[in-house]
Amino acid sequence: MSEGDLGSRLRALPSIDRVASRLDGPHPVAVAAATSAVELARAEVNAGGSTTFEQVLEAAREALERGEQKRLQRVLNATGVIVHTNLGRVPLGPAQLDAVGEIAGAYSNLEYDLSKGRRGDRYGHASTPLKLLTGAEAAVVVNNCAAAVLLTLAAVASGREVIVGRGELIEIGGGFRIPDILETSGARLVEVGTTNRTRLADYERAISQETAALLKVHPSNYRMVGFTESVELKALAKLGRARRLPVLFDLGSGLLEDYAKAPWTRGEPTVLGAIAERADIVTFSGDKLLGGPQSGIIAGRADLVAVIARHPLIRALRVDKMVLAALEKTLECYLNNDSSELPLWRMAGAAEAELEARARNLAQALEGQPSLAGCKVEVQETRAVAGGGTLPGTEVASWGVALASETTSAARMHHLLRRARIPVIGRVEDDRLIIDLRTILPEDDALLRSLVTSALT
Ligand SMILES: *Cc1c(COP(=O)(O)O)cnc(C)c1O
Repeated sequence: MSEGDLGSRLRALPSIDRVASRLDGPHPVAVAAATSAVELARAEVNAGGSTTFEQVLEAAREALERGEQKRLQRVLNATGVIVHTNLGRVPLGPAQLDAVGEIAGAYSNLEYDLSKGRRGDRYGHASTPLKLLTGAEAAVVVNNCAAAVLLTLAAVASGREVIVGRGELIEIGGGFRIPDILETSGARLVEVGTTNRTRLADYERAISQETAALLKVHPSNYRMVGFTESVELKALAKLGRARRLPVLFDLGSGLLEDYAKAPWTRGEPTVLGAIAERADIVTFSGDKLLGGPQSGIIAGRADLVAVIARHPLIRALRVDKMVLAALEKTLECYLNNDSSELPLWRMAGAAEAELEARARNLAQALEGQPSLAGCKVEVQETRAVAGGGTLPGTEVASWGVALASETTSAARMHHLLRRARIPVIGRVEDDRLIIDLRTILPEDDALLRSLVTSALT
């Protein structure tokens, strides 16, 4: 191809404006998609290839769709993973959302003391219900549990040593590693014991003038089996008291009560239990087994919580009013014995028979769709999990629907479901697409049915 020929072919490329004018959506978004498509076409022509206006337009539409998919949007969680970190951990319910709406849509006493008529304390808001529910003397709320651990260590142990059992030097998804958090806080890590066994004597031997605290971490996302030994919180707390060292317990999951409707939570330590076993500070998430908004709670001894709440870092880790509103409402539900109002416990506590009936209804509706011809629909007993770094290895009996097709792979069907108006996320097992109903609220059954039907048409 001659120089002149190339030049004329480049000039023949459609203008960005012309492509953008054929796209839907906000102007800057359309222009960005059109620009990337035209640049792609230019590279293609430069490499000796050719392209048509329709091809450029198609590429721009694909770029637009990719951008669309990145937008924060609602999805249906049909994975059966109840606390799903990648899908936003747990949904909030109407009571929690109303509280957020009321506080966020108006001025509030966020940092204003109504009785004294002057500046008040943001961090004190959820502390009364937290004290009542956990038995702790004091509590303070920050951005998330990682922030709670970081702040606690910075306030209690910066520049000094913290003793941790080697088997508890864990990483919890999303890059939260206990050794890194310790280092960032300015504290020095002293590891004791071996990967599988740590004894009280190991902690005792490591205590020195430099020791600021003993740290226990709940290995919430894995379970060691076999020849293992770790020191119980109770024994560690006793050692801490004898040596006048605070015992910090990073619990993570934040289960408040042994919830009778979900017997599978048995075996997960509770916040109340940790305070009763006399941990000086317990840190936990607001959006795991508490069923609230993303937040991190520091509960424990009043003198230590006061030191933590005064540390300058708290300003950088502070929670927003919308979070506080949702958290206070969540705690109120527990205080009123209404925790079954929280979506987490509605889903976690759903009876198997009810899930089975709903799975049968869904299967029946899907089978009746001529468009799904060639798709085998089966009702199936499934295994859901708590997820989100809680109760590793514990399975939750559940029911769902399995879709298999002679002509379309399960991965392809899953891809189609992820492109639905409201994406549906399931899981693929043995080339079957499983839709687990444990993590779908009953009021979304009709929506799920129509999304699956239209996606697979
Ligand atoms: C999940 C977890 C964290 C991190 O909690 P975020 O709220 O996600 O920051 C910290 N420690 C433990 C033990 C956890 O399980």
